[in-house]
Amino acid sequence: MDAIHIPQLEKARQQTESIQINECLNDLESLMPVKGQLKVVHQGTYLQVSAQVETIVTLTCDRCLQQYNYRLAADVSEMLWFEATDAVDLETEVTLDGPVETISPQGYFEPDDWIYQQLCLQWPQCQICRQDCQGMDQELMTTGGQGSDQRWAALAALKESLADSQ
Ligand SMILES: [Zn+2]
Repeated sequence: MDAIHIPQLEKARQQTESIQINECLNDLESLMPVKGQLKVVHQGTYLQVSAQVETIVTLTCDRCLQQYNYRLAADVSEMLWFEATDAVDLETEVTLDGPVETISPQGYFEPDDWIYQQLCLQWPQCQICRQDCQGMDQELMTTGGQGSDQRWAALAALKESLADSQ
């Protein structure tokens, strides 16, 4: 994806650039290209960026450790404020490293980076292959592994000792 030159965007028709996205991002390992659309609007004092994108990634289930495919999607809109136009020195840039996203009005907007960030924010914290995933325990019980027997025995013993102490 080409970077968008912001001064050029300001001169564009309706100060708007709409991009159809259908490509793989360098930093994102996905099974298929990231697809969707991106819209960037120059609003005078800020850049209004919105996108609806999706792709498929392979995750590892936290419960059963099997790999599974996951639809990673983002439907987001963000305002990127322009830095003060005159004499933006390095010091200012450091202090701007806060929650407010800023961008140079003379610089470029990088669609790839931004979309990558948005997709990363949508990454599931809890990775479970399916809702009724029983994890590894299920397998141990059905195959009658000794490990599970010992655990059940330990549980029974615990219950007994609790009953005794009452
Ligand atoms: Zn699972």
